[in-house]
Amino acid sequence: MRFGEWNVRTCIAGRFGLDGGAMFGVVPKTMWERLLPPDSFNRVPMVMRILLVEGQGRTVVVDVGAGGGHSEKNRQIYAFEDTEHVSDAIRALGVEPADVTDVLLTHLHFDHGAGIVERDGDDWRLVFPRAVHHLQSSQWRHAFAPNARDRASYYEDRIRVLEREKVLRLYDGPWSLAPGFDLLVFDGHTPGQQLPVIGGGDGSLFFCGDLFPTHHHIPTPYVMSYDLYPVTSMEEKAALLERAEAGKWLLCFEHDAHVEACRVVRDGKRFSAGEAVRIL
Ligand SMILES: [Zn+2]
Repeated sequence: MRFGEWNVRTCIAGRFGLDGGAMFGVVPKTMWERLLPPDSFNRVPMVMRILLVEGQGRTVVVDVGAGGGHSEKNRQIYAFEDTEHVSDAIRALGVEPADVTDVLLTHLHFDHGAGIVERDGDDWRLVFPRAVHHLQSSQWRHAFAPNARDRASYYEDRIRVLEREKVLRLYDGPWSLAPGFDLLVFDGHTPGQQLPVIGGGDGSLFFCGDLFPTHHHIPTPYVMSYDLYPVTSMEEKAALLERAEAGKWLLCFEHDAHVEACRVVRDGKRFSAGEAVRIL
Protein backbone atom coordinates (compact mmCIF):
# COMPACT_ATOMS: atom_id res chain seq x y z
CA MET A 1 0.00 0.00 0.00
CA ARG A 2 1.38 3.42 -0.91
CA PHE A 3 1.63 6.32 1.52
CA GLY A 4 3.11 9.38 -0.19
CA GLU A 5 6.41 8.26 -1.69
CA TRP A 6 6.62 5.13 0.46
CA ASN A 7 5.55 1.61 -0.31
CA VAL A 8 4.49 -0.21 2.89
CA ARG A 9 4.06 -3.93 3.44
CA THR A 10 3.62 -5.89 6.67
CA CYS A 11 4.67 -9.32 7.86
CA ILE A 12 4.45 -11.37 11.03
CA ALA A 13 7.69 -12.05 12.92
CA GLY A 14 6.08 -14.46 15.38
CA ARG A 15 3.09 -15.19 17.58
CA PHE A 16 2.77 -15.34 21.34
CA GLY A 17 0.32 -14.86 24.20
CA LEU A 18 0.12 -12.26 26.97
CA ASP A 19 -1.93 -12.30 30.13
CA GLY A 20 -5.30 -10.77 29.30
CA GLY A 21 -5.51 -8.93 32.62
CA ALA A 22 -2.12 -7.29 32.01
CA MET A 23 -3.12 -6.35 28.47
CA PHE A 24 -6.21 -4.45 29.58
CA GLY A 25 -5.12 -2.88 32.88
CA VAL A 26 -8.04 -1.62 34.94
CA VAL A 27 -10.67 -2.85 32.48
CA PRO A 28 -12.57 -5.76 34.16
CA LYS A 29 -12.27 -9.22 32.66
CA THR A 30 -16.03 -9.36 32.22
CA MET A 31 -15.57 -6.65 29.58
CA TRP A 32 -12.30 -7.59 27.81
CA GLU A 33 -12.94 -11.35 27.63
CA ARG A 34 -15.83 -10.67 25.26
CA LEU A 35 -13.46 -8.79 22.94
CA LEU A 36 -10.56 -11.21 23.13
CA PRO A 37 -11.33 -14.61 24.69
CA PRO A 38 -8.35 -15.94 26.74
CA ASP A 39 -6.92 -19.47 26.72
CA SER A 40 -6.91 -21.72 29.81
CA PHE A 41 -3.86 -19.81 31.16
CA ASN A 42 -5.68 -16.46 30.76
CA ARG A 43 -3.46 -15.54 27.77
CA VAL A 44 -4.80 -13.64 24.78
CA PRO A 45 -3.34 -14.18 21.28
CA MET A 46 -0.78 -11.65 20.06
CA VAL A 47 1.32 -11.27 16.93
CA MET A 48 4.54 -9.38 16.35
CA ARG A 49 3.70 -7.46 13.17
CA ILE A 50 6.48 -5.53 11.53
CA LEU A 51 6.59 -3.02 8.69
CA LEU A 52 8.73 -3.14 5.59
CA VAL A 53 8.88 0.34 4.08
CA GLU A 54 10.58 1.08 0.75
CA GLY A 55 11.20 4.39 -0.97
CA GLN A 56 13.73 7.19 -1.54
CA GLY A 57 16.51 4.61 -1.93
CA ARG A 58 15.87 3.09 1.50
CA THR A 59 14.61 -0.25 2.73
CA VAL A 60 13.33 0.23 6.27
CA VAL A 61 12.19 -2.37 8.81
CA VAL A 62 10.12 -1.13 11.76
CA ASP A 63 10.60 -3.37 14.82
CA VAL A 64 11.92 -6.92 14.60
CA GLY A 65 9.90 -9.16 16.93
CA ALA A 66 11.33 -11.34 19.67
CA GLY A 67 13.64 -13.57 17.59
CA GLY A 68 14.38 -17.11 18.76
CA GLY A 69 16.35 -18.85 21.49
CA HIS A 70 13.96 -18.14 24.36
CA SER A 71 14.38 -19.74 27.77
CA GLU A 72 12.08 -22.61 28.66
CA LYS A 73 10.49 -20.41 31.34
CA ASN A 74 9.66 -17.61 28.89
CA ARG A 75 8.47 -20.11 26.31
CA GLN A 76 5.95 -21.39 28.84
CA ILE A 77 4.84 -17.98 30.07
CA TYR A 78 4.47 -16.39 26.64
CA ALA A 79 3.60 -19.43 24.50
CA PHE A 80 6.18 -18.36 21.91
CA GLU A 81 5.75 -20.15 18.64
CA ASP A 82 9.43 -20.30 17.91
CA THR A 83 9.03 -20.84 14.21
CA GLU A 84 8.81 -17.42 12.63
CA HIS A 85 11.69 -14.96 12.57
CA VAL A 86 12.05 -11.52 11.13
CA SER A 87 14.64 -12.66 8.56
CA ASP A 88 12.30 -15.36 7.19
CA ALA A 89 9.38 -12.94 7.16
CA ILE A 90 11.39 -10.32 5.25
CA ARG A 91 12.71 -12.89 2.77
CA ALA A 92 9.14 -14.05 2.12
CA LEU A 93 8.49 -10.50 0.89
CA GLY A 94 11.42 -10.82 -1.54
CA VAL A 95 13.96 -8.74 0.41
CA GLU A 96 17.34 -10.01 1.66
CA PRO A 97 18.18 -8.93 5.25
CA ALA A 98 21.59 -7.68 4.03
CA ASP A 99 19.80 -5.16 1.77
CA VAL A 100 17.91 -3.48 4.63
CA THR A 101 19.31 0.05 5.12
CA ASP A 102 17.49 1.11 8.30
CA VAL A 103 15.98 -0.62 11.33
CA LEU A 104 13.64 1.58 13.35
CA LEU A 105 13.25 0.28 16.87
CA THR A 106 10.15 1.67 18.58
CA HIS A 107 11.64 0.53 21.91
CA LEU A 108 13.65 -2.41 23.21
CA HIS A 109 11.08 -4.60 25.01
CA PHE A 110 11.86 -8.13 23.84
CA ASP A 111 8.76 -8.50 21.68
CA HIS A 112 9.89 -5.43 19.69
CA GLY A 113 13.69 -5.49 19.76
CA ALA A 114 15.16 -8.88 20.75
CA GLY A 115 14.95 -10.09 17.14
CA ILE A 116 17.79 -7.75 16.05
CA VAL A 117 20.16 -10.70 16.54
CA GLU A 118 20.26 -14.40 15.83
CA ARG A 119 22.41 -17.16 17.33
CA ASP A 120 25.98 -17.50 16.10
CA GLY A 121 27.42 -20.37 18.16
CA ASP A 122 27.69 -19.03 21.71
CA ASP A 123 27.39 -15.45 20.50
CA TRP A 124 24.85 -13.29 18.69
CA ARG A 125 25.11 -11.72 15.24
CA LEU A 126 23.04 -8.95 13.70
CA VAL A 127 20.12 -10.04 11.49
CA PHE A 128 20.48 -6.81 9.42
CA PRO A 129 24.25 -6.35 9.33
CA ARG A 130 24.36 -3.30 7.05
CA ALA A 131 21.45 -1.37 8.58
CA VAL A 132 21.65 1.69 10.79
CA HIS A 133 19.53 0.94 13.88
CA HIS A 134 17.56 3.97 15.13
CA LEU A 135 16.41 4.42 18.74
CA GLN A 136 15.63 7.15 21.26
CA SER A 137 18.50 7.75 23.68
CA SER A 138 16.12 7.81 26.70
CA GLN A 139 15.01 4.26 25.81
CA TRP A 140 18.63 3.14 25.41
CA ARG A 141 19.50 4.46 28.87
CA HIS A 142 16.37 2.94 30.40
CA ALA A 143 17.11 -0.50 28.93
CA PHE A 144 20.24 -0.72 31.09
CA ALA A 145 18.63 0.73 34.21
CA PRO A 146 15.13 -0.75 34.17
CA ASN A 147 13.08 -0.86 37.36
CA ALA A 148 11.67 -3.95 39.05
CA ARG A 149 8.46 -3.54 37.05
CA ASP A 150 9.93 -3.89 33.57
CA ARG A 151 13.30 -5.62 34.09
CA ALA A 152 12.03 -8.87 32.53
CA SER A 153 11.20 -7.00 29.31
CA TYR A 154 14.85 -6.43 28.29
CA TYR A 155 17.32 -9.02 26.95
CA GLU A 156 20.51 -7.13 27.73
CA ASP A 157 22.96 -9.54 26.09
CA ARG A 158 21.18 -9.12 22.75
CA ILE A 159 20.76 -5.36 22.73
CA ARG A 160 24.43 -4.85 23.74
CA VAL A 161 25.31 -6.13 20.25
CA LEU A 162 24.04 -2.83 18.79
CA GLU A 163 26.75 -0.98 20.71
CA ARG A 164 29.50 -3.50 19.97
CA GLU A 165 28.81 -3.47 16.22
CA LYS A 166 28.56 0.35 16.17
CA VAL A 167 25.27 0.32 14.24
CA LEU A 168 23.19 2.34 16.69
CA ARG A 169 22.07 5.93 16.11
CA LEU A 170 20.37 7.67 19.04
CA TYR A 171 17.91 10.58 19.03
CA ASP A 172 16.52 13.00 21.60
CA GLY A 173 12.87 13.63 20.72
CA PRO A 174 10.91 13.67 17.45
CA TRP A 175 12.88 13.48 14.18
CA SER A 176 12.51 12.63 10.49
CA LEU A 177 14.16 9.72 8.72
CA ALA A 178 13.39 11.31 5.34
CA PRO A 179 10.70 13.59 3.88
CA GLY A 180 7.30 12.06 4.72
CA PHE A 181 8.73 9.66 7.30
CA ASP A 182 8.46 11.22 10.76
CA LEU A 183 8.99 9.79 14.23
CA LEU A 184 6.80 10.84 17.16
CA VAL A 185 7.87 10.14 20.74
CA PHE A 186 5.76 8.82 23.64
CA ASP A 187 6.77 8.23 27.27
CA GLY A 188 3.76 6.58 28.96
CA HIS A 189 4.49 2.95 28.09
CA THR A 190 8.24 3.33 28.54
CA PRO A 191 10.61 6.30 28.21
CA GLY A 192 11.26 7.20 24.56
CA GLN A 193 8.92 4.98 22.58
CA GLN A 194 9.19 6.31 18.99
CA LEU A 195 6.44 5.60 16.46
CA PRO A 196 6.46 6.47 12.75
CA VAL A 197 3.98 8.47 10.69
CA ILE A 198 4.57 7.52 7.05
CA GLY A 199 3.36 9.40 3.99
CA GLY A 200 3.10 12.98 5.13
CA GLY A 201 -0.19 14.86 5.08
CA ASP A 202 -3.68 13.41 5.17
CA GLY A 203 -4.09 9.67 4.83
CA SER A 204 -0.72 8.82 6.39
CA LEU A 205 -0.01 5.51 8.11
CA PHE A 206 0.71 5.52 11.86
CA PHE A 207 2.36 2.45 13.35
CA CYS A 208 0.93 2.06 16.85
CA GLY A 209 3.63 0.03 18.68
CA ASP A 210 2.58 -0.32 22.31
CA LEU A 211 0.56 2.94 22.36
CA PHE A 212 -2.39 1.03 20.84
CA PRO A 213 -1.21 -2.61 20.81
CA THR A 214 -4.54 -3.76 19.30
CA HIS A 215 -7.61 -2.03 17.92
CA HIS A 216 -9.34 -2.86 21.22
CA HIS A 217 -7.00 -0.34 22.92
CA ILE A 218 -8.38 2.72 21.12
CA PRO A 219 -10.78 3.75 23.98
CA THR A 220 -8.77 5.87 26.43
CA PRO A 221 -9.06 3.70 29.62
CA TYR A 222 -7.86 0.58 27.76
CA VAL A 223 -4.21 0.90 28.85
CA MET A 224 -1.92 -2.06 29.53
CA SER A 225 -0.67 -2.82 33.05
CA TYR A 226 2.80 -2.97 31.48
CA ASP A 227 2.76 0.82 30.98
CA LEU A 228 5.05 2.55 33.48
CA TYR A 229 3.03 5.79 33.44
CA PRO A 230 -0.57 4.90 32.52
CA VAL A 231 -2.02 8.38 33.01
CA THR A 232 0.60 9.75 30.60
CA SER A 233 -0.39 7.00 28.14
CA MET A 234 -4.03 8.09 28.35
CA GLU A 235 -3.09 11.70 27.59
CA GLU A 236 -0.82 10.64 24.73
CA LYS A 237 -3.54 8.40 23.28
CA ALA A 238 -6.16 11.16 23.40
CA ALA A 239 -3.85 13.66 21.64
CA LEU A 240 -2.85 11.14 18.99
CA LEU A 241 -6.47 10.17 18.28
CA GLU A 242 -7.34 13.84 17.66
CA ARG A 243 -4.56 14.08 15.06
CA ALA A 244 -5.33 10.68 13.53
CA GLU A 245 -9.00 11.43 13.09
CA ALA A 246 -8.40 14.92 11.69
CA GLY A 247 -5.76 13.65 9.23
CA LYS A 248 -7.62 10.40 8.33
CA TRP A 249 -4.54 8.43 9.35
CA LEU A 250 -4.60 4.67 9.03
CA LEU A 251 -3.54 3.07 12.33
CA CYS A 252 -1.54 -0.17 11.99
CA PHE A 253 -1.48 -2.44 15.05
CA GLU A 254 1.72 -4.27 15.98
CA HIS A 255 0.13 -6.91 18.23
CA ASP A 256 -3.42 -7.35 16.89
CA ALA A 257 -3.89 -10.96 15.76
CA HIS A 258 -7.14 -10.14 13.96
CA VAL A 259 -7.18 -6.53 12.73
CA GLU A 260 -4.13 -5.27 10.85
CA ALA A 261 -5.21 -1.64 10.54
CA CYS A 262 -8.16 0.71 10.76
CA ARG A 263 -9.07 4.37 10.76
CA VAL A 264 -10.52 6.16 13.77
CA VAL A 265 -14.18 7.02 14.12
CA ARG A 266 -15.26 9.93 16.30
CA ASP A 267 -18.51 10.10 18.24
CA GLY A 268 -18.50 13.35 20.21
CA LYS A 269 -15.52 13.08 22.57
CA ARG A 270 -15.21 9.32 22.10
CA PHE A 271 -13.13 7.49 19.55
CA SER A 272 -13.54 3.94 18.30
CA ALA A 273 -12.09 1.64 15.65
CA GLY A 274 -13.40 1.98 12.10
CA GLU A 275 -13.66 -0.82 9.57
CA ALA A 276 -10.73 -3.26 9.43
CA VAL A 277 -8.24 -2.58 6.62
CA ARG A 278 -5.59 -4.91 5.14
CA ILE A 279 -2.31 -3.31 4.12
CA LEU A 280 -1.64 -4.86 0.71
ZN1 LIG B 1 6.55 -2.56 25.07
